[in-house]
Amino acid sequence: MIRGSHPEKDRRPLSVDLGVTDVVVIGAGQAGLSASYFLRRRNVDHVVLDANDAPGGAWLHRWPSLRMRTVHGIHELPGMPFEQPSPDERANEAIPSYFARYEQLFDLPVIRPVNVTQVVDDGALLKVETTDGVWTTRGLINATGTWRRPFWPYYPGQETFRGRQLHTADYQGPEEFAGKRVVVVGGGASATQLLMELAPLAADTRWVTRHEPVWREGPFTEDYGRWVVGMVDDRVRKGLIPRSVVSVTGLALNEQTRAAIASGVLDRKPVFDRITPTGVAWGSEHYDADIILWATGFRHDLDHLAPLHLRAPGGGIQVDGTRVVSDPRIHLVGYGPSASTIGANRAGRSAVRELMRHLDGAKAA
Ligand SMILES: Cc1cc2nc3c(=O)[nH]c(=O)nc-3n(C[C@H](O)[C@H](O)[C@H](O)COP(=O)(O)OP(=O)(O)OC[C@H]3O[C@@H](n4cnc5c(N)ncnc54)[C@H](O)[C@@H]3O)c2cc1C
Repeated sequence: MIRGSHPEKDRRPLSVDLGVTDVVVIGAGQAGLSASYFLRRRNVDHVVLDANDAPGGAWLHRWPSLRMRTVHGIHELPGMPFEQPSPDERANEAIPSYFARYEQLFDLPVIRPVNVTQVVDDGALLKVETTDGVWTTRGLINATGTWRRPFWPYYPGQETFRGRQLHTADYQGPEEFAGKRVVVVGGGASATQLLMELAPLAADTRWVTRHEPVWREGPFTEDYGRWVVGMVDDRVRKGLIPRSVVSVTGLALNEQTRAAIASGVLDRKPVFDRITPTGVAWGSEHYDADIILWATGFRHDLDHLAPLHLRAPGGGIQVDGTRVVSDPRIHLVGYGPSASTIGANRAGRSAVRELMRHLDGAKAA
């Protein structure tokens, strides 16, 4: 079970009325904290409801072997510098500790652990149903990220595999792969990072991806960043399911990945067409495997918004900036183009500005 979810609490009856507030923020990761900071600056009455037991958002759950030297770069939260920790420090300690200090410094009204089970329309207001009771709110900023929704694609025979299957979200470090034959599925940065980490211990590895990987050389310039964000933004404006920012950027070609390509660790094969009890197969070719590691990414965690029927025919929620086109009381931050630490920060500020303009207008009318 992923830390921070509380199935036993989720079954409690929803009878407690927790009161009315101007804005409910769901999620206290980078996006939710950024939104709360800007709400605080405007003295907006709000609460931040977070399912985790402790500060840190998704970073609290990153695998213990992920060190600060391997994360792509963390953009600081608004108003408080992020003193660069030592490269050897664990990401799942350094970043949560920064978030904890941030919540404290700005006295952000985070309540945890609280799981939002659903949000329902109640005329001019929204009812936010949680494991602790029901909040009533005029506006909603959803910042629930993706970590609780690992994506597992299906391949024929998957249920027959007698070895172990796990997702990036379950990865705890390379030790359990020692002496094993491992298939890593996925074309993103997590797949390459985990492969490079576990290959020295494993008996053998195979890397499979749906598409030929695109390696990106050279610095991640601002112009390039803008183009990437534009690509993701274009999809969510059309109501399509967003692609992750990382999926558009390609894979970084650096000293470490070059060495792994040269040694054969990052020698990519197309994805198998079926899974067998003892491994994976492409036509008549078979690879015996003990473990399949699905580094196949995550999806946005939005099921609690289902009663609001926000999804467009394209399967995504149509947003303009962060505002949900079909319901201006609702903003999605950390969604689509803002699903990075830098994007989440900007989205927090613009969501608050636009939402408060809308709510103030509605109050005056
Ligand atoms: C392995 C990995 C490495 C990454 N590295 C980087 C990097 O180096 N740099 C970068 O910019 N980005 C990186 N990213 C992307 C990064 O995760 C996001 O940019 C950012 O951390 C997401 O912040 P967030 O606030 O949107 O979501 P999260 O940090 O996921 O926070 C969401 C919060 O919402 C809570 N929540 C969810 N559902 C509910 C609910 N129903 N009720 C109550 N609370 C709920 C969760 O418990 C969580 O605390 C990485 C992603 C992954 C998977």
